[in-house]
Amino acid sequence: MKLVLIGAPAAGKGTQAKRLIEHYNIAHISTGDMLREEISKGTELGEKVKSVMASGGLVSDDLIIEIVKARIAEDDCKNGFIFDGFPRTVVQAEKLDEIIGHIDRAVFINAPDEVMLQRLTARETCPKCGATYNKLSLPSKVAGVCDACGEKLTQRKDDTVEAGKARLKTFHEQSEPLVDYYKKQNLLFEVNGLMDIDEVTKSIISGLGEKA
Ligand SMILES: [Zn+2]
Repeated sequence: MKLVLIGAPAAGKGTQAKRLIEHYNIAHISTGDMLREEISKGTELGEKVKSVMASGGLVSDDLIIEIVKARIAEDDCKNGFIFDGFPRTVVQAEKLDEIIGHIDRAVFINAPDEVMLQRLTARETCPKCGATYNKLSLPSKVAGVCDACGEKLTQRKDDTVEAGKARLKTFHEQSEPLVDYYKKQNLLFEVNGLMDIDEVTKSIISGLGEKA
């Protein structure tokens, strides 16, 4: 099964992706994670990406496609994969189609901006062990303190109201044409992101079918 996951920041993409890869036994492909990994490993590609980002530019479609192409050739992708954070634009979606024929479904986790903004700004992380919390949906036992290690929790710089609004704006500009692109091909499966996490998973699996 070849899936694309679309959703605003804080729509729960990461959580749903984890559940879907387990259910369907497919690979999770997060281009963001892959880019960060290349940078931290200091590979040639990582250096290229780092210099593009340092100059304030966006990583080019060609570079992203190059990375994706190499990734889907790996063994764990034989049974299928789910893309998280890619494609971001219609151009990237078209290039992806050129490589793999076409995807099976695009899952769009849809939720209103006000709710996404509330969720974003409620996120907390532990700077020491990396545990993540959410004051609304997954609070720590003691407010502001990590359950796992007792460290004081902090907020990511891009989880503030201002940064959150900017990220949502970018998301809409980029994703709306993408949603239309898949809708026109009858590949879009839209799910209500306001339901609780388990309901969203159930709804996706019943929409896609039990088997990969
Ligand atoms: Zn911790």
